[in-house]
Amino acid sequence: MPTKPHILVIGSSNTDLVVKVPRLPAPGETVLGGDFASVAGGKGANQAVAAARAGAAVTFVARVGDDAFGRLSLEGLRKEGIHVDYVVTDRQHPSGVALILVAPDGQNSIAVAPGANAHLTPADVHHAAAAFRSARLVVIQLEIPMPAVQSALELAAHHRVPVLLNPAPARPIPTDWFRHITFLVPNAKEAGALTGIEVTDPDTAIRAAARLRHKGVAHVIVTLGDQGVVLDAPRLHKHLPAHRVHAVDTTAAGDVFCGALAVAWTEGRPLLEAVHFAQAAAAISVTRFGAQRSAPTRAEIERFLH
Ligand code: ATP
Repeated sequence: MPTKPHILVIGSSNTDLVVKVPRLPAPGETVLGGDFASVAGGKGANQAVAAARAGAAVTFVARVGDDAFGRLSLEGLRKEGIHVDYVVTDRQHPSGVALILVAPDGQNSIAVAPGANAHLTPADVHHAAAAFRSARLVVIQLEIPMPAVQSALELAAHHRVPVLLNPAPARPIPTDWFRHITFLVPNAKEAGALTGIEVTDPDTAIRAAARLRHKGVAHVIVTLGDQGVVLDAPRLHKHLPAHRVHAVDTTAAGDVFCGALAVAWTEGRPLLEAVHFAQAAAAISVTRFGAQRSAPTRAEIERFLH
């Protein structure tokens, strides 16, 4: 059995409080919901779990509160075999919470109270310097403060570790970050926010991806939900359709995609094959309810692809 690639994930950990609703409410409207569930989420933790299940050795850097949500999150991550010694327990701020509504067609609506996530510091990131030395890829999202992201980019550059940035939620990125990003993986909305191009389909995604590459990013992968992805890399400009499945909950599809992509790429697969693998993992995840728990195992992804 070859050794698992080491992936360092830096990001948020939340508890998702999820209600199934017959349809997403309009502003001011109350919709009577169905089942309620409390599940582990947060883009960072979701991507860490997705990568661990897909076959990587994962180290996670984050902040959780000194409360039941934080303890449960850590316990869940440990059970996945994720190294959590660099997760800081914050005694001043509560754990992050996300309120999620899910409609029968799988569409969702989400509000996040970041809590401790908003207090991850550059020092917390530097504390994990040893993990940067052995990581084959650093995976980051934007649910943590920008100075922490900046420190992660600097440390990754210092140790010559490639970086996958999932620029979610959408927010402006300093221009000098782009050349430090090996893989930029926005969804349609984020690609639109970063470029000013309204991304609705593969054609507009191809234009947005080209603009982002022009800013200095090595590889841009725009995810388009059930329309698949657009890939813009050296000598590679392609739309790859999604696997066809029956979606019940698209929460964390992008996170599962990023985690699985990180694994396939660090295992040395060609980029097209890595994207195919990641799309399979994401497709499986949308057929299941929940965020982290919808991430498939390596065996499930391989079965899906055969
Ligand atoms: P979320 O914010 O819900 O986590 P996202 O908006 O970041 O997701 P998407 O672009 O919706 O990410 O989806 C990521 C990937 O997941 C897509 O590129 C595709 O491969 C897969 N995917 C998403 N929805 C579907 C679907 N309905 N059927 C098949 N694959 C899907």
